[in-house]
Amino acid sequence: MEEDKYFNTQQLYGFLPSENKEVGKLATLALDMRWSWNHATDKLWRQLDPELWDQTQNPWLVLQTVSRNRVEQLLKDPLFKEKLDALLEKREKATNSSAWFQEKYPQSGLTHLAYFSMEFMLNEALPIYVGGLGNVAGDQLKSASDLGVPVTGIGLFYQQGYFRQEIDHDGNQKAIHAFNDPGQVPIIPLRKPDGEWLRITVQLGGFSLWLRTWEVQAGRVKLFLLDSNDPANLPVHRGITNELYGGGPELRIKQEIILGIGGWKLLAEMDLKPEVCHLNEGHSGFVVLARAAEIMKEKRCSFEEALFISRPGNLFTTHTAVPAGFDHFHPHLMENMLGQYARDVLGIGLERLMALGRQNPGNSEEYFNMAFLALRGCGAVNGVSQLHGIVSRELFSCLFPRWPLNEIPIGHVTNGVHMPTWDNEFSDKIWTNACGKDRWRGDLADMEPAMCQLSDEALWDLRSICRENLVHFIRSRFERQSRLGGRRNHLNLKIEDIFDPHVLTLGFARRFVSYKRPNLLLWDKKRLMHLLNHKSFPLQLVLAGKAGPGDETGKALIKEWIQFIEENSLHQKVVFLSDYDMGITEQLVSGVDVWMNTPKRPWEACGTSGMKVLVNGGLNLSTLDGWWAEAFSPEVGWAIGNAADTKDNGLSEEREAELLYDMLEYQVIPEFYERKPDGLPLRWLERIRKSMSRLAPVFSANRTVREYTDNYYLPAAQQYLERSAGITGKGREIFEIQQQIRQHWDKISFGDIQTETKGEFHVFRVSLVLEEIHPEWVSVEIFAENGNGGMPEKIKMERVENMDDHRHQVYTGKVPANRPLSHFTIRVIPFFKELALPLESSYILWQR
Ligand SMILES: *Cc1c(COP(=O)(O)O)cnc(C)c1O
Repeated sequence: MEEDKYFNTQQLYGFLPSENKEVGKLATLALDMRWSWNHATDKLWRQLDPELWDQTQNPWLVLQTVSRNRVEQLLKDPLFKEKLDALLEKREKATNSSAWFQEKYPQSGLTHLAYFSMEFMLNEALPIYVGGLGNVAGDQLKSASDLGVPVTGIGLFYQQGYFRQEIDHDGNQKAIHAFNDPGQVPIIPLRKPDGEWLRITVQLGGFSLWLRTWEVQAGRVKLFLLDSNDPANLPVHRGITNELYGGGPELRIKQEIILGIGGWKLLAEMDLKPEVCHLNEGHSGFVVLARAAEIMKEKRCSFEEALFISRPGNLFTTHTAVPAGFDHFHPHLMENMLGQYARDVLGIGLERLMALGRQNPGNSEEYFNMAFLALRGCGAVNGVSQLHGIVSRELFSCLFPRWPLNEIPIGHVTNGVHMPTWDNEFSDKIWTNACGKDRWRGDLADMEPAMCQLSDEALWDLRSICRENLVHFIRSRFERQSRLGGRRNHLNLKIEDIFDPHVLTLGFARRFVSYKRPNLLLWDKKRLMHLLNHKSFPLQLVLAGKAGPGDETGKALIKEWIQFIEENSLHQKVVFLSDYDMGITEQLVSGVDVWMNTPKRPWEACGTSGMKVLVNGGLNLSTLDGWWAEAFSPEVGWAIGNAADTKDNGLSEEREAELLYDMLEYQVIPEFYERKPDGLPLRWLERIRKSMSRLAPVFSANRTVREYTDNYYLPAAQQYLERSAGITGKGREIFEIQQQIRQHWDKISFGDIQTETKGEFHVFRVSLVLEEIHPEWVSVEIFAENGNGGMPEKIKMERVENMDDHRHQVYTGKVPANRPLSHFTIRVIPFFKELALPLESSYILWQR
């Protein structure tokens, strides 16, 4: 069996097979993307080809590119072989040992979770991402691997991924499409136990579409990818998975059908039965249909019952702060793409399917909203920061008419980043000394006190070396891109004059979209120039970012920056790096002193780039939006504007720009240059110490994944298992009651209501006409808003027993009379311990 642990090279794709089993061992290491955050194997790859390694840091590319002769020759070296075997053994231990999840939940009902996402950002070697959403997916997969949470990712393999960016010297963005050769990225065909490559089919607008399947290994977890570039397909179908977020709604819905329905089918073909599906954004919403379809077959039940059974096992994470962020599909498109599926597979008409994606199911004009489908197919919903939770409750409140905003059933789990991915060799050393090698694999309990002990010298050495390395990176990129643009000779600049390793370095890199306001710093160009050119306390600024291919406003923002640099010959102090990707991020978050973020509150759902600097001792300067609204305190960084408790902070753009300049000029810059005789900026270093020790643990994906596991995954698995086992007994009953409530709720009405104040209490007596609704299915409550926007006061009323006619009921209750009687009102809501409310039954009747 020994050999089975390692790849048989014949099974790989686009790789020269070898009789030599040792080559299979190398391939096994090179195809485990653990190398993207754990650098134990770096030296081995470097030995194969130092130059190629330094250029790419991509083991799979190195192994494929180096001549087979060289590989065979090295494999004859006993020292090399010994090293290889030791690394494989270490890898095996890391994969099979028990981790946080196994220790904390040894008897867990959660054996498998499928995580669906349109994009995954694991490493630039596998470019199937655009930005934030892929970052969240990739970093959470990696942390799940660290923690031993049994997750499998499901995504798409894009032949072109997202466009690559070139910028000409006038500032025009050009989109370039590079090709992802599946034989040259670290993926392999997904094979059935007998070795055959798994192909699956989905139905798409009357055609049967073949999908190829791929497998990515990332530590303990796997990521399965689907693509339609199978030669058996019609040429037009082969291109469906070409581009990420390319084309219009028709292409998008096809991709989403592949992801949701194809993704579920893939799991079924592999005999994998996850208890929980996590939908990262609404794109993968169709999976709730496919999962229900399978249950229909298994339990021989209707679609409605099947959806009811599977619902608690689905979790929906929403990522957008505006309605336009949701995918909407025209009814005709839905009919073309899914009409037949609705009728033949789900046994429901198109109208019922459409109803799942509409605010008003009766409105046949309304488009199909993927987020609404996800919400109606999931047993829990969450936003991605505290503030985004509030924003999301408002966004989805239209689906819960007459419910108070703070009872809209959407929670939040604040995103975090995978720290081992974003640290560098120098910060890694510091963290290892303070907190040990396994620091990101446990519950992080002792991290803060340990990090508080770091000396000023150690922190300043770290910052100095990181900044210097960044400066070298910026120089070499600058050199490369001015050569590419044919400008190298015109600029007449010595490369050593680009950036200064001792100058305060500000970073700003993100998607160039208007709500992120990448030009806020350009509001008053004179003032910015003044800061950049200060004789004693200068500033330098590195920028990067792509504008969406069709986003002219975003492109204009890039142009504004380029022209600002060109017109004022600021190349030595301001550099715009083209082709922002994960590799650039790694360098920037490692070296900048201050990471700047200027979104318009509350448009940034969370934001993650600023979290990446924490582990390296970078500091944040940001508007109070997304994660920063909950992370900021005056000791750990800087806020632009104050902590307004309104969602929109009410400041004009001009005022915010002014506050940003003031913050830089009067606080950030002076603090950086305020040095003790030994050259150390003590206040600055104290701020770094606080930011690293307090914020890095909290905004790590380790914390995020533990929170999802404790609060969402485990309850979801348990509720799903209960419902799925119980559908013949109690579960069936609840399902029937839910249907009854749907049919008869409108018939409930209030009868006589008496109130009086007796001593210290307001006393209520209410009669209620329930008609077909059984008294045990409802809860009658005395309700009052909490004046401070907190959770309302809710007191359950008692039913007066022994009524002859269950259609008429009387309820009594009392509340302390410390508020006026007029604050209180009576309401009736459904009542079930077994249902997520009001998510699964959103009826409500108010006295007034
Ligand atoms: C981290 C990252 C993002 C997400 O950053 P935001 O804070 O959402 O702007 C986007 N793109 C890349 C390449 C990243 O590394």
